[in-house]
Amino acid sequence: MPTLEPIELTIDGDLLVESHHGTRNENSVLESWVGNHKGCGNAMHRHHSNDKFDCIVCTGCYLRISFPVSVRTYGELRKCLTVLFNNLRANRGNPWRA
Ligand SMILES: [Zn+2]
Repeated sequence: MPTLEPIELTIDGDLLVESHHGTRNENSVLESWVGNHKGCGNAMHRHHSNDKFDCIVCTGCYLRISFPVSVRTYGELRKCLTVLFNNLRANRGNPWRA
């Protein structure tokens, strides 16, 4: 299994990358220490938000990404965010991103 490719976190170009390169792949479980926010460079942690959602939060810039609590792995996070971004891009609701 190849190592983890960066995961797109926002449609503004934010990426999640491995903090310990080569130790994680798509099937690795997304635990409390998730990885690093590329560019910003700080650690991102998983937190429980409510019955439906968990989130990962950057300890440096406080970027917060919400996702279904059922997401277990990096691959599942990538899939659910890809669906979200496809919807956002199709709607083109924000002129900054036109
Ligand atoms: Zn950050």
